[in-house]
Amino acid sequence: MVLQNIQREARKYALQNAVFFNGIAHEKAVLGKVIAALKRDNISPAEIIPVVSSIVAEVNRMSPEAQRTELQILAPELLQREKKERDFSLPELPFAEKGTVVTRFPPEPNGYLHIGHAKAAIIDHEYARMYDGTFILRFDDTNPENANLEFYDAQKEDLQWLDIDWDKEYHTSDHLETHYQLAEQLIKQGDAYLCQCSAEVVREGRFTGKTCSCRTERTGEDALGLWKEMLSDPHVGGILRLRGEMGSENTAMRDPTLFRVIDAPHPLTGDKYHVWPTYDFAGAVEDSLSGVTHPFRTKEYELRDPVYFRILSLLNLRAPHLMEFSRLSIQGMPVSKRKIKPLIDEGKVSGFDDVRLPTLRGLKRRGIVPEAIKQFVLQQGFSKVESVVDFSLVESINRKFLDPRVKRYYFVPNPVKLAVDGAPKKTVRLSLHPDAAMGERVVHTGSTFFISHDDARSLKNGEVFRLKGLYNVKITKTGETVSGAYAGEDLIAETAKIQWTTDAYVPLKIFVPGLLFKGETFNPESLSEVHGYAEEAVQDLLEGEIVQFERVGFVRLEKQGNRMIGLFTHK
Ligand code: ATP
Ligand code: MG
Repeated sequence: MVLQNIQREARKYALQNAVFFNGIAHEKAVLGKVIAALKRDNISPAEIIPVVSSIVAEVNRMSPEAQRTELQILAPELLQREKKERDFSLPELPFAEKGTVVTRFPPEPNGYLHIGHAKAAIIDHEYARMYDGTFILRFDDTNPENANLEFYDAQKEDLQWLDIDWDKEYHTSDHLETHYQLAEQLIKQGDAYLCQCSAEVVREGRFTGKTCSCRTERTGEDALGLWKEMLSDPHVGGILRLRGEMGSENTAMRDPTLFRVIDAPHPLTGDKYHVWPTYDFAGAVEDSLSGVTHPFRTKEYELRDPVYFRILSLLNLRAPHLMEFSRLSIQGMPVSKRKIKPLIDEGKVSGFDDVRLPTLRGLKRRGIVPEAIKQFVLQQGFSKVESVVDFSLVESINRKFLDPRVKRYYFVPNPVKLAVDGAPKKTVRLSLHPDAAMGERVVHTGSTFFISHDDARSLKNGEVFRLKGLYNVKITKTGETVSGAYAGEDLIAETAKIQWTTDAYVPLKIFVPGLLFKGETFNPESLSEVHGYAEEAVQDLLEGEIVQFERVGFVRLEKQGNRMIGLFTHK
């Protein structure tokens, strides 16, 4: 009886775990569930462990389809929960066990985060949470010329907006002393040397694969002495290079630079240090020392992977399981700080939060919600295939999030006056959303209205249309202004329903972002404006509220001084 009971529970949870994790059930995770489920029956873990172990092995030999089918029969409710929670989940990590996965997101504090960083941060974070592991936020601030104090906090705010929480936070610049010790170790081992060739000669040597005399002549005591001089005096020029393979096919292995002098004040360490590790050195050492098990990098670093592993191996440090995904690129948008910064500096965009930019702040201002960014990233997954995606993909996901939760109003672009003859004075309640729970607004009408220029142009003399939510009007005059006559309240099938405002309107300018680049060239017409009237109720909305203007699109409202403006999100 007892054994059957254990077997049944183990089978259920092993199947569920396998379905959750792409066909492979994790013994520890399953064990936890089975023990919890059988606790009330007073069954001891000692009895459970061997059963779970063999059942997990059995389940893992099944095909994913067979696992799903059996779970469907055995415990469909477990499948149900899986569907809701893991709709857009990432594939399983190799060599990963629950509770032991450590990931990190390592931004350089030299700008605001963009949607490409969001991809990296979301994947790193998601994996840590998926495996009940640890997620580290590490500021890779080892270039004092780039690091800027304001960005440390700004990047944290951006991550918080994405609903990303981290378990540990530190700066690579906190660990310089450790980096120096490790450098010394490499020098003493003869695995690194001081090179004082000019930058040009170094480049040339790397290109031709020729070794310089610094490598052959400056070893051991010599190199160590020079290294110490360099540490104490910024005017002692030179770089510390890995004794790699100058003849290697992979140019990254041709004695890469590990440390260089950058004599500029650092936002956190001031002028305490002037010898700084390169990304090759700092990245590898930090990932290893901070216990990261699965560091992710973008694909362009692939050629540098051997450098990463060589450094760690020479230092006898643990090598993490390095993984790569493709850089996110979006058609017509600059998804790179290097491309965004000049646009700001040259005044081509209004700032880092310009609504045309893919910065998280630009996206937020435009009305893209963090849930949509997350879903977009997870849907894209992390294939290594470089692809340029269309921003409409982000828009369509965002629309799904906004549609059920934002209020709907009327906005009349390019308004045209409509005078209605015989119009009864009315007070109407219009619902703010088809889902009645969102409430309604009250509108008082007289005989003057505004409708959009496009709608006005489409109306013909004698035609009957409906002011949406109000009553019917029969057109008596078209042109610059339109006149009509009250034509009753009964709904008439197939008449046009047109959005309107009364003469108590709110003038509203809506900025419409377009693509910043056409091919490689900047598009000076990337931001356009639409002028119009919004209905009066819009006046009382909060700064930052996103609304849907019926038949126009989603718009985020912003107060500029005491004036309201709109930022067009998408259709
Ligand atoms: P940028 O060109 O925008 O400065 P970066 O890679 O130099 O990019 P970092 O702050 O060093 O910016 O990056 C932090 C992390 O974000 C890195 O792990 C990097 O690989 C990742 N990342 C940056 N841009 C993208 C992108 N477009 N797509 C995916 N990941 C990205
Ligand atoms: Mg960078």
